[in-house]
Amino acid sequence: MADPRPPVCSYEGSDYQTSFWDQGGRSYEDQVEAVALRRLLPISGKLLLELGAGAGRNSPRYAGFERVVLLDYSLTQLQQAMKRLGQSPCYTYVAGDIYRLPFVAGLFDAATMIRTLHHMVDAPLALRGVRRVLRPGAAFILEYASKHNLKAILRYLLRRQAWSPFTLEPVEITELNFDFHPRAVRGWLAECSFALQRQLTVSHFRLGMFKRLLPLSFLVWLDSLAQLTGDWWQLSPSVFTLSRAVGDTPTAPPTITPVGFFQCPSCGSADLAETPDTLSCPTCAHTWPVVDGIYDFRSA
Ligand SMILES: [Zn+2]
Repeated sequence: MADPRPPVCSYEGSDYQTSFWDQGGRSYEDQVEAVALRRLLPISGKLLLELGAGAGRNSPRYAGFERVVLLDYSLTQLQQAMKRLGQSPCYTYVAGDIYRLPFVAGLFDAATMIRTLHHMVDAPLALRGVRRVLRPGAAFILEYASKHNLKAILRYLLRRQAWSPFTLEPVEITELNFDFHPRAVRGWLAECSFALQRQLTVSHFRLGMFKRLLPLSFLVWLDSLAQLTGDWWQLSPSVFTLSRAVGDTPTAPPTITPVGFFQCPSCGSADLAETPDTLSCPTCAHTWPVVDGIYDFRSA
């Protein structure tokens, strides 16, 4: 039988952090994201889920939270994150699939998903899963790549691009890299019981021309001003949104032990058994390794 799960874009074995961020001339993108995050993040909180955490580039920005759970599909990205951030009780590392999150319902009081929806074939399915693990009132910061950006609009009008930036369906730019229409994303958020509170448009000046001609600090300042127009119109390649989880859904009791925290991604049982190197589900007999302190739920 074919696997019903959507395909996953994995960064396993990738040197993405080094080649794209550290040596790729992406200081501008990194700094304008930091500005947007500072504007949207709650000042403090208990438990934050970072979806698509990669090598932990953004994780130190969540220092107001008592604990951060880094989730990524790639074990090697999480190993890089652990090297960067250290093995501290403030961080929990989980390799898993966003479509089948291995956490009990209503666990987190915040979640972030940055440069990650971009890889989702089935974005609404992923967002429904995120909503399930949030408690009512939780903050959800979602960043997505927008197809309705100025460059795409100009290229389309000049007939240098076949796909329309004005229609609601996602466009697959390269394999498993999707750009979305802001109106479509807002519709999915509402369908998944998220109440949108704020939008910031980000990375207006990422073109090489701007980066060559203008000093970095000036570009970051300009973008931080332009971000504030995000509730009125969205013409940037990246959009940050802040939503609240709404609806009468469960709240999980706070725990720091794996039992009562994780839930079997195969059968949904929260009754897992723990040994030093494994978690296992007595209900469906699945076992997951814990590799160097990283919970690996990928084989579900
Ligand atoms: Zn199970």
